[in-house]
Amino acid sequence: MSAPLPFLPMTQPTIDEETIAGVCEVLRSGWITSGPKVKEFEAALSALFGGRPVRVFNSGTATLEIALRIAGIGPGDEVITTPLTWVASSNVILEVGARPVFVDVDPVTRNIDLEKISAAITPATKAILPVDLAGLPVDRDRLYEIAAQHGLRVIEDAAQSLGSTWNGKPIGAQGDLISFSFHPNKNLTSIEGGCLVLRNDAEAFLAEQYRLQGVVRSGVDGMDVAVLGGKFNLTDVAARVGLGQIPHLEEFTARRRQLVKAYFEAFSGHPIAGLELPLADFTNCNWHMFQVVLPESAETRAAVMEKMKDAGIGTGVHYPAIHLFTLYRALGWKEGDLPNAESLCRRILTLPLFPSMSDADPLRVVKALASILEPALSR
Ligand SMILES: *Cc1c(COP(=O)(O)O)cnc(C)c1O
Repeated sequence: MSAPLPFLPMTQPTIDEETIAGVCEVLRSGWITSGPKVKEFEAALSALFGGRPVRVFNSGTATLEIALRIAGIGPGDEVITTPLTWVASSNVILEVGARPVFVDVDPVTRNIDLEKISAAITPATKAILPVDLAGLPVDRDRLYEIAAQHGLRVIEDAAQSLGSTWNGKPIGAQGDLISFSFHPNKNLTSIEGGCLVLRNDAEAFLAEQYRLQGVVRSGVDGMDVAVLGGKFNLTDVAARVGLGQIPHLEEFTARRRQLVKAYFEAFSGHPIAGLELPLADFTNCNWHMFQVVLPESAETRAAVMEKMKDAGIGTGVHYPAIHLFTLYRALGWKEGDLPNAESLCRRILTLPLFPSMSDADPLRVVKALASILEPALSR
């Protein structure tokens, strides 16, 4: 008997030694909160997005909330979004006093079904907040066509799609307001953090005010507060972590694609009846996650997850449908409202995917899953 393989987590950040040393330098520098490293990080991010203005914040959630404020969204307004996302996407809509309006997802892309948006638009609709689930971009051409037709702002929740592209350009380089997250599970991390790509310097100035108490400084000792801001600034320590990730972004994305190809190969060698694989997009998608949908007939997802864990493999659920959470049911949403999302959210399962995984890991995961779902067939 060979020794059991080490536990394979669902995801794991990759931090190089230079970054760790860089963080120590910041800690010793005498300036550890927002300062020169934040400015450097913003400049490096801006270069990724075609030179557009970028401001960083202490979370992707704060970034989204500030994007909504910059778009002027508040009480009485409606924002159209997807139910199949991290709950932050719609919590921020409630946070600014507006109402989230969920539109069902497309079962193939698992993203918001753009063709169902028009029917959800009312005179109160102010914006669309789409999410690129697992990094697969929502069709930007169609999205902006619909937004232009109805005079709506777009707040792209691109938390998962840093490194993805549309029409050959990085997500973030074109479009209205684009929000990213640097949570440790995301493709680029600053431990916690996020950034917003803005349209112009006036919006960037407003973002700075919302970021830190609304404060505007002038001269040596002048200060004014004209808008109500919060406390959302990123530390220089976090910014240094993020800076150390940027040179690796392309290699991280390439590695994820390679591993996903290995997943597809492993599944074609070990097919599982009724299992749905993700759309095989190797052009636009950064493969933030690799998600399968379990067969309707499979034993419960929880049982599958337990058995995968016993086999030394971590899995995850991304996501329960938001409209069925108690907070959202209280707003009138109920079972049956969004059938595609409801069917997906019961069966979707995230398998391990991160750049430092080994070439052999995808086959190991697929074999374990096959032996759980097709025990009669597995050898
Ligand atoms: C991670 C994530 C967020 C929130 O980002 P935080 O940095 O965790 O606040 C928002 N939306 C989506 C789709 C995410 O995946």
